[in-house]
Amino acid sequence: MAEHEPYDLGPPCPSCGEPWLRATNLPGRYRCVNCLTRFELRSQCPDCGSHSTIARMSDLKNVRCRNCGGSMLTPV
Ligand SMILES: [Zn+2]
Ligand SMILES: [Zn+2]
Repeated sequence: MAEHEPYDLGPPCPSCGEPWLRATNLPGRYRCVNCLTRFELRSQCPDCGSHSTIARMSDLKNVRCRNCGGSMLTPV
């Protein structure tokens, strides 16, 4: 079910756990404004290797692997 979110904060940062991931001006690249770690959105899950069809690279809702639920973001 959809999680109740008072604000559209997006997914938590894989590094610090805070929901401050923001898209950068590079497609598929994100940066956490809390810990300043940069991430790249991969088309292949770094955990289970499952490929994901990312229809909207700019949509932060789609950064989770549909197979294992892990994050598709890897630190750059
Ligand atoms: Zn962070
Ligand atoms: Zn996975």
